[in-house]
Amino acid sequence: MEKSPKGKKSQSNMSKNKFELDPERLATTDEEGHRVYLYPEDVAGVWKNRRQLVYWGLIIVYLVLPWFYINGKPALMVNIAKREFTFFGSTLYGVEPILFFLLLISGLFFIGFLTSVFGRVWCGWACPQTVFIQSIFLKIEAWIEGKARQREKLDQDPLTFEKIWKKLLKWTIYTAISLHIAHTFMGYFIGPRELFWITMGSPFDHFGIFTAVMIFTTIILLDFGWFREQFCIIACPYGRIQSVMMDENSLVVAYDAKRGEPRRGLVDRSQEGDCVNCYNCVKVCPTGIDIRRGTQLECIACTQCIDACDDIMERINKPKGLIRYTSENALKGIKTKLIRPRSVLYVVLGLIFISSFFYFLQASSNLQAVFIRSKGAPFNAIEEAGVVQQVTNVFTVKLKHQGSQEFHIDFKHNDPTLEGKVDFLTSARPIKLERAEMQTVLIIKFSPDILVAGGKTIKIDFYDRITNSVVATKEVSLVGPIH
Ligand code: SF4
Ligand code: SF4
Repeated sequence: MEKSPKGKKSQSNMSKNKFELDPERLATTDEEGHRVYLYPEDVAGVWKNRRQLVYWGLIIVYLVLPWFYINGKPALMVNIAKREFTFFGSTLYGVEPILFFLLLISGLFFIGFLTSVFGRVWCGWACPQTVFIQSIFLKIEAWIEGKARQREKLDQDPLTFEKIWKKLLKWTIYTAISLHIAHTFMGYFIGPRELFWITMGSPFDHFGIFTAVMIFTTIILLDFGWFREQFCIIACPYGRIQSVMMDENSLVVAYDAKRGEPRRGLVDRSQEGDCVNCYNCVKVCPTGIDIRRGTQLECIACTQCIDACDDIMERINKPKGLIRYTSENALKGIKTKLIRPRSVLYVVLGLIFISSFFYFLQASSNLQAVFIRSKGAPFNAIEEAGVVQQVTNVFTVKLKHQGSQEFHIDFKHNDPTLEGKVDFLTSARPIKLERAEMQTVLIIKFSPDILVAGGKTIKIDFYDRITNSVVATKEVSLVGPIH
């Protein structure tokens, strides 16, 4: 972290050493509460390499996945309006809102478990905000404007031709990337092909979607390009609640004060600890904190300071790990318990909700059928020479399921005494049911012999012609003339 742009107060204005942060306020605000811009320096090291691998894997997931098609369907799509959920080529139709709710809650408990054990691993390693800023937006900024000091200088410089073209180029590329991210985000909900054809048409044809994409683009552009660490510090709800999920056994990025203190410059050289007070850990921190002051809410566990400090330790021939992943207990010399009641509780609750999800999914994947008798006459009698030969009852049958299976439905009764006496007539047999819901007219034609006092209840099997298995059974009351 270095100075701020022109017109803004920076840490350098506040203290003799610009990296010696004021203990009374955040590094990102001055004494009047205005924002202090940060220029985190780049860092190299083993943790950065690991994070880059994770980041690029996630960028593929976040940005490329929905554009892939498997079995003619997007790899991942959540169509909320149609209640369809497509996952790697399989679609669940008519998904009930409770399933989304159960999935969401179970996800939150599993994140709670990860947080209780590994601390803010989500923030530093997987949050789209961190992933995109670290891997794409900061890279572009460094490519166009240079290293941290050059970027800072450019911001402080008066408006020159160089400053104008660099800023214009940077924000143009930012805008193009933000547009792509916003479209991909919408693609998760609409489907990329549909979205592509929508974007080819006039914005006024789908003004709602156009407006939503423009709003997302603006939010992404401003957040990733300018607001950055402010979002983590001020706005992120997870950042606020994560401290509730963590305790002194959770893994955090921490400074080993026992080993590091007293740091260089405070005491005689022969008594000083391993910290040489180079402030490199502060200079690289994307949220502008000094981790040597202990675990702080603003720390997103990005590990930049670990790499920065390890580099120094290597140069002065001291063991690495003065700043490292550890727990508060471990720093106090107490054994870290990674598995403890809190983390077990999160896993158990997560498992309960995910099991409920699969239970409801299984239950609602079965075929459900509703018979609605047609309005008007309850039956039609077909007579010959004044004698009733056949009777028909007409029903509307509503079929519903939310699994990914395609059914080819046909009907039969399972009563041997009705053999040759009952027939089922539909406009198409079998009825192809590939989506969540459909309805068809079913005429049941039967011999009046089966009626007892003008009525008869029969069981109808719905069987799938492809698998030849019964997928549902329904009781239906038939009515006819009393004879
Ligand atoms: S203190 Fe270290 S781990 Fe925490 S945000 Fe700053 S650089 Fe990242
Ligand atoms: S990078 Fe390491 S040695 Fe340098 S100030 Fe930070 S903790 Fe001390």
